[in-house]
Amino acid sequence: MTDSEVGKRGNVYENVVWQFNKASDLMKLDLDIRKILGKTTNEIIVNFPVKMDDGRIEMFTGYRVQHNNALGPFKGGLRFHPAVDIHEVRALATWMTWKSALTYIPFGGAKGGIQCDPFKYSQSELERISRRFTFALGNNIGPEYDIPAPDVNTNPQIMAWILDTYISTMPAHERQACIHVVTGKPIESGGSLGRDKATGQGVVYTVEEWARDKGFNLAGATYTVQGFGNVGSWTALLLKQHGSKLLAVEDASGAIANAEGIDPEDLIAYAKKNNGLISEYPKARPIDRKTLFQTKADIFVPAALENQITADTAPLLNVKLVAEGANGPTDPDGDQVLQQKGIDLIPDILCNAGGVIVSYFEWLQNKRSEFWELEEVDTKLHRKIVSAYERVRDTAKEYKTDWRTAAYIVALSHLDTVYRERGIFP
Ligand code: NAD
Repeated sequence: MTDSEVGKRGNVYENVVWQFNKASDLMKLDLDIRKILGKTTNEIIVNFPVKMDDGRIEMFTGYRVQHNNALGPFKGGLRFHPAVDIHEVRALATWMTWKSALTYIPFGGAKGGIQCDPFKYSQSELERISRRFTFALGNNIGPEYDIPAPDVNTNPQIMAWILDTYISTMPAHERQACIHVVTGKPIESGGSLGRDKATGQGVVYTVEEWARDKGFNLAGATYTVQGFGNVGSWTALLLKQHGSKLLAVEDASGAIANAEGIDPEDLIAYAKKNNGLISEYPKARPIDRKTLFQTKADIFVPAALENQITADTAPLLNVKLVAEGANGPTDPDGDQVLQQKGIDLIPDILCNAGGVIVSYFEWLQNKRSEFWELEEVDTKLHRKIVSAYERVRDTAKEYKTDWRTAAYIVALSHLDTVYRERGIFP
């Protein structure tokens, strides 16, 4: 394996199908329900033109895949990345369905994105790209129908542009009633306190539960993080508050390490001044990707992209726990190696569910014209994610299976019940 092959990514939708089949077989999921959940509901692909700063027109391809809405409106983030394609969006949309079902959030699953490198564009170009994408999607999104949120390379500012574009196309008297068309908005534009840190906060709440179960002390524990954007940086910061020590970090620009520890707060401040990138941080030494995976630590938090923990990289890991901040960071081969090595796993649909949980709180606040204090958001998030954690832990014991499969079984049982109660129209 060469360094450039570490973390090479395949078709992630195949991973979803593999995970789904494994859980469905074990729980003996009804064949008809398998047929329904094995397909996406809608797959929307839009090609749209955007005027660049120099007057040229560039064509973009955007996606929105709506997997399932049996439990509530379609819900899921928007990603701006060169690797966005129909397979990736389909996988991410499907994971959203499982995540909402697992955490008992009344949402379905969706995901979307634009195949582009957002770092190539100016702010005004990004604004026009976001607005034209929203316009192209039209009524395929909506506050009671399909609600986007931030994901990789999208942020509260982009949500504000999407909100503004969406409501500008509504009749005047309906506009204010539509601000819950997106979540993850800036606070002033209808966002929720605690949404920014919600995914990292959820990761840390689940890690706290794991530590309690294992009698493991997070004070003085060591950890490594892959991805230092919203999820990775918040997770690092919140683990620091437990007295844990960050040993190595990787982002799109490269990886760094310091055996004495890296201060997440200082690294965040550095990244803010350097286009969000960390590889030249002066208080750590550069390392290659392989070394990041090999770094001995208690906890590894993948918080970047899919298919990072694979048959190639999983054998390198020297940790007690993998806490999946990212969606789909481990492929089925990687899972198998983690199990053989006795490394615990908090699977993505549980570990990173804090984002969708607080998105749900934001949506509720908008619908009720309320504004909750941070303490209320955190308390409710804690209650929701800890009860999902307990369901997964208990199901893993009951079925004598791994935690990812257990998480799927909880989610699929919930959906199975709903389909049985309602039946299929007509
Ligand atoms: P982000 O854009 O804020 O950060 C992504 C980070 O990953 C950046 O630091 C980037 O440099 C790094 N990265 C990109 N390519 C990389 C590579 N090849 N190797 C190493 N690092 C790389 O995105 P985010 O919102 O933090 O999302 C990260 C992951 O968490 C994604 O899998 C996303 O789907 C998942 N997630 C996000 C949320 C949320 O609320 N934002 C919620 C649930 C799950």
